[in-house]
Amino acid sequence: MNESRVFLAKAQQKSADEIHRLKIQKAIATYDIKVKSTKNRQFYDWQKARKKAAQIKDDALANLPDLLLQFEENTSKNGTHVLWAENALQARQHIRDIIKKHHAEKIVKSKSMTTEEIELNEFLDEMGVENWESDLGEFIVQLANEKPYHIVTPAMHKSQAEIAELFSRKLGIPATGSAEELTMAARAALRQTFVTADIGITGANFIIADTGAIVMTENEGNGRLCMACPKVHIAIVGIEKMLPRLSDLALFLPLLATSGTGQQLSCYNSIIRGPKAANEADGPEKMVVILLDNRRSEIYAQDKFRHVLRCLRCGACLNACPVFRTVGGHTYGTAYQGPIGSVLTPHLRGMKNWSHLAHASSLCGACSDVCPVDIDLHHLLLENRWQAEKEKTTPFIWQIAIKIWAWLHTNRLLLQFVRPILKLGIAIIKPVLPAKKKRRLPQLAKKSFAQMWTTAATKSPKKDAISHG
Ligand code: SF4
Repeated sequence: MNESRVFLAKAQQKSADEIHRLKIQKAIATYDIKVKSTKNRQFYDWQKARKKAAQIKDDALANLPDLLLQFEENTSKNGTHVLWAENALQARQHIRDIIKKHHAEKIVKSKSMTTEEIELNEFLDEMGVENWESDLGEFIVQLANEKPYHIVTPAMHKSQAEIAELFSRKLGIPATGSAEELTMAARAALRQTFVTADIGITGANFIIADTGAIVMTENEGNGRLCMACPKVHIAIVGIEKMLPRLSDLALFLPLLATSGTGQQLSCYNSIIRGPKAANEADGPEKMVVILLDNRRSEIYAQDKFRHVLRCLRCGACLNACPVFRTVGGHTYGTAYQGPIGSVLTPHLRGMKNWSHLAHASSLCGACSDVCPVDIDLHHLLLENRWQAEKEKTTPFIWQIAIKIWAWLHTNRLLLQFVRPILKLGIAIIKPVLPAKKKRRLPQLAKKSFAQMWTTAATKSPKKDAISHG
């Protein structure tokens, strides 16, 4: 089955799953309340704040090649080693080389969508390296042998009872645990991992050109432990995560926390400038930053799409999207779900297999409205549809159907002629279709607009007055 068919099959199944929908609606309703009140408390003018953030990101993108070199120079001065990865394969090879060089057998990871993008977990499994996710949500989906459901809340689709049952099976605790007991069980299982792991792998929310620092913002402190406890720290970061100045964080940290989780600021914000210095007791002995391109340069080169690289991966557009809320995160089959995933994935993984995601949208624009960096997501989805059409990745049968539709709807007389034939066709086909497909048949109005207009115009007293006047 191709990706588009898989998407449709999963979407059909998930949208009919009422329990799934209730869980997601409950989670997003809580999020919505928090975000609304935090936006009002944290920002005097939210619209101005996001326009300012968009402008800073655009300036950073305009100077991205220079800023990346500036970052490399400054972070190297701090003792960090910088590696460049053109694609996912190269990024994985860099990580494999580091693992081999340090004879590493155990890795602890913090949540990072970039590692999902390069399918690092599967690669580490193939290498036979022990690999532990330390973010609670990621830990849950790892135990369940699933992919993250949402870019910020990976286990959003699981109820407390389901997590308790999972922990009972995998960690041997009673299946009646409260939220606190479940969290403590995960903590107990992971605590030793931080101190026994050979390498810690993290992402980064921002990289800062003027100081050569990477910035991690999180709520559990696990990212900080991944970075500080093992002897080697690898941070894998998309090249678009650039901010020119350390002072830009004053806007971006609260902006990301507000849109991501409805907090004024996340609990742990780490600015990491390099490995442990000679006079420091804690921290990694070696730090490597892998700067990942993976087709971002191709997006960068397209004027219409460049601004999608402003994305902070806050997840707000997923929560706002009626399609995501109905079909759920796993249906997308990609590292990035929801509107941002539907815009990005065809460019990261090829229009041919992923152009169908551009149609996973009602084009209501709710995603663009909530985006903290003002990305025009719904118009970019339209642009993806247009590109898919240009590249002829739309299935042939659809291309023909759309051409016929356009031909009919631009010719009123022809449409009036075809209408009764269509009505007759539907009347003949409908009784023999299975019940599921019957609902999908278009309902033709009893009278066409032209017929209704003629009738109304004939009855209108105004028309009489005009014609007799
Ligand atoms: S596109 Fe905007 S709303 Fe969506 S994840 Fe990125 S920053 Fe957040």
